[in-house]
Amino acid sequence: MAGEGSSGGGVGGGAAVVGAFQDEAEPTVTIGEYIEGIEAEELEADLVLGGDDGKECTFGGGYLKRQAVFSCLTCVPDGVGGVCTACSLACHDGHEVVELWTKRKFRCDCGNSKFGSHACKLFPEKEPENPANSYNHNFKGSYCTCSRPYPDPEAEKQVEMIQCCICEDWFHEDHIGLNSIEEIPRDEEGEPIYEDFICQKCSPQCYFLKLYPDSIWASNKQSSSHGDTEKIENGVITNHSNGEKTSDSGKFPKENAAPEKASLDESSDGKCKLEMNISTKIQSADSEKNMPFFMSKGWREVICRCETCMDFYAQRGVAYLIDKEDSIEEYEKVAKQKREKKLEQQEGAEANFLNSLDHVQKIEILTGINDMKNEFQSFLESFDPSKPVTSEDIRAVFENLAKKKKQRLS
Ligand SMILES: [Zn+2]
Ligand SMILES: [Zn+2]
Ligand SMILES: [Zn+2]
Ligand SMILES: [Zn+2]
Ligand SMILES: [Zn+2]
Ligand SMILES: [Zn+2]
Repeated sequence: MAGEGSSGGGVGGGAAVVGAFQDEAEPTVTIGEYIEGIEAEELEADLVLGGDDGKECTFGGGYLKRQAVFSCLTCVPDGVGGVCTACSLACHDGHEVVELWTKRKFRCDCGNSKFGSHACKLFPEKEPENPANSYNHNFKGSYCTCSRPYPDPEAEKQVEMIQCCICEDWFHEDHIGLNSIEEIPRDEEGEPIYEDFICQKCSPQCYFLKLYPDSIWASNKQSSSHGDTEKIENGVITNHSNGEKTSDSGKFPKENAAPEKASLDESSDGKCKLEMNISTKIQSADSEKNMPFFMSKGWREVICRCETCMDFYAQRGVAYLIDKEDSIEEYEKVAKQKREKKLEQQEGAEANFLNSLDHVQKIEILTGINDMKNEFQSFLESFDPSKPVTSEDIRAVFENLAKKKKQRLS
């Protein structure tokens, strides 16, 4: 969802080549571009899977704080069941599977009572239901306030969608209730600079956030451009500017009559950061407010963890906001670490293999790889995109390689 053509699981590699050949506008792909494309796809898949290798059903782990979830419309057409990555691959291969990106507090349903007679191959002994799972319309393959599928067969162009960190539904940028999509906080390159998005429907539930200083809101304006260098550092808001705090740093309309903001001080020995009882401060009025919210990086660490505030979050059903592992930021960080480790191990294995060879064998292999690359590249460059690849073409590539090898040996 974050990028177009995400394939869920590193299974899209072969398809990428086919796609490149079929796309008339882009008839040739260099080896470099091809490899780059695969790496980007793999990275994206690894980020969604959170470093899960997709081999074991996650049911045994209970309701995981966050995991990639898939819905199988072949097995559960009304969209009231979801399965883990491993099950999507092992138990629902060839079915109509909807990729839901990640969901919080979900337990794999594969093969339980919702799946009729379809048994789970990986973890068949499941209880009939997972009562704490929740299923929004994404599980039926529809998204946003417009309830369209993703990708949308009727859309001219697949656009990125934004996930709400409360309801976890996905939204088109032009369907989130802003006057213009220009209001979405982005940097000069157009990259999003917010950590979390809260949709219009969920913002009343989170209206207490309006009690916090402006720096917890992602601002569309570059903060450097108007001298306000207030920042979140280690969960504390610091203001580096000497003068008075500028009041226009937040992008949020003042006409909403936001509650009087607290000034956060650093002491956090059980005292309330806001120095108030938020449940009395935020009352009925907040049910009328519905503007989408964009939260700045690090905002979750700023919000108060005193007993009164924690009770308030629990009542509102948003206690997960103060759990670090709930955030996509953290989930992806862990995924990246696991990925780097995996890549290091792979490189290590390749290096070990090369080291076990004598010099002649090494040269033989390295030039072989190089010949293969060159041959494959000229094959791609000479390829007529209107024709399908035949086994004859492939044989020609290998015959050329064999000739080269003979030339070198003679
Ligand atoms: Zn499973
Ligand atoms: Zn299925
Ligand atoms: Zn299964
Ligand atoms: Zn929409
Ligand atoms: Zn929402
Ligand atoms: Zn508090």
